[in-house]
Amino acid sequence: QGGGGGGGGGGGKAAEAAVTPRSEDFSKWYLDVVAKAELADYGPVRGTMVIRPYGYSIWESVQAVLDARFKELGVQNAYFPQLIPYSFIAKEAEHVEGFAPELALVTKGGGKDLEEPLVVRPTSETIINHMFAQWVQSYRDLPLLVNQWCNVHRWEMRTRPFVRTLEFLWQEGHTAHATAEEAEAEARTMIDVYTDFAVHTAAMPVVPGRKSRIESFAGANCTYTIEAMMGDKRALQAGTSHNLGTNFAKAFGTMYLDKESKRQLVHQTSWGVSTRIIGGVIMTHGDDKGLRLPPRLAPVQVVIIPIVKKEEDRVPVNEAAAKLAAAAKAAGIRVKIDADERQTPGWKYNRWEMRGVPVRVEVGPKDVASGTCVTARRDQGKEGKQMGVPMEPAAFTAHVQGLLDSIQEGLLAQARAFRDENIVDVKSYEELKAAVAEGKWARGGWAASDDDERRIKEETQATLRCFPFDQPAGPHTCFMTGQPAAEVAIFAKSY
Ligand code: AMP
Repeated sequence: QGGGGGGGGGGGKAAEAAVTPRSEDFSKWYLDVVAKAELADYGPVRGTMVIRPYGYSIWESVQAVLDARFKELGVQNAYFPQLIPYSFIAKEAEHVEGFAPELALVTKGGGKDLEEPLVVRPTSETIINHMFAQWVQSYRDLPLLVNQWCNVHRWEMRTRPFVRTLEFLWQEGHTAHATAEEAEAEARTMIDVYTDFAVHTAAMPVVPGRKSRIESFAGANCTYTIEAMMGDKRALQAGTSHNLGTNFAKAFGTMYLDKESKRQLVHQTSWGVSTRIIGGVIMTHGDDKGLRLPPRLAPVQVVIIPIVKKEEDRVPVNEAAAKLAAAAKAAGIRVKIDADERQTPGWKYNRWEMRGVPVRVEVGPKDVASGTCVTARRDQGKEGKQMGVPMEPAAFTAHVQGLLDSIQEGLLAQARAFRDENIVDVKSYEELKAAVAEGKWARGGWAASDDDERRIKEETQATLRCFPFDQPAGPHTCFMTGQPAAEVAIFAKSY
């Protein structure tokens, strides 16, 4: 039984047709996977996206892990209005300058022109400060740690499903602290949370670091980022945490009375991860058969496929499948039985491979007779197939859990090796140009000006992704100016 390969079967043609090979056209491959794994579809308005149930279930996995972590750190969820008075956005000079080109405005309501246009939230620092200024009275009210799960709108020009859309889902954390040190510690803690999530849940070996002035969030003193390398070597900013200093506090009068009853500005942070992370997972792990999901993120970790050819096999095979599913579920494994009799086993194998399910279990009449089943790993071909896996619940779940752990580790190791192969240490601008021309990331000492940074972007399209926290031993020399440099920076083309 089992066997791989395609095979007929009616309906759902989308899952049967292969995707464009990744090596042939990465962009087209990506869009094919998004469509054929039924993750998302295009909305009627340019740049908008419908997140389909399977894609949404991946977002729910992201939410579950991050939300639990935020709560452990004392952050509480809240919800703030989506419509923000325009005057709020205008209060912080850099913030409005950065966001103005991307704002969506509501100018009419109930058929009448509004006195003041309303901004459809692009991010909520302003409205949250408006509320914090009322809620914070004394040092006893601090720190104030809130998060909201919501949608935001940014009128982006170049869009791509998940990666950059006009409207996206995210979480935005907003905190207020008594001291600059506490705010800095919070901003760093949250980028560590994102790093840990990316590496250990999404199996994305991100590079955490600090953004340059030019690339920082509009209104932040300092932006921390996690940068991931996609399968085409482009960088993806997969999450950010900002130290906002007192910039918004000044604009909104967010102040507290300290122990000496003196009025002080609060020190703030904000931090966000969006549905972009799903694009990151697709482009880090996907292959020519479609999506490959890291087990800790996969909404379905194991799919069980009963193989019924003769009528008399139906009941025993389905019963055996149900027992395996019950055992897996009891062990905390997310499992699904695909008993749809209108489709052939081969068609189902392709469909679940396209959707990136880490482990497949096949059960047929011969297996039932021998008390065993067959398992297959999504991250391996035929060599990953194992016959004679015992059906006995404890042995079966231990085997499957072992596969899930091994796949989780394997995906991370594979992505890490790919990343490390494609970062080049550069000593001159010429070397940077050569590395970027090959699509690679360039890393080198950097102490040049903002203008030099802009020039690199203009001439090579590579941007300064970050000054990595993990710095190689110095001393360093700036590859642009030849002057001593305190740090190395990474430059790359990005999404
Ligand atoms: P920001 O508030 O600009 O720091 O954004 C927080 C995070 O949201 C970024 O690090 C990105 O990962 C993500 N993000 C920003 N813009 C978009 C967009 N247009 N679509 C999807 N995700 C986005």
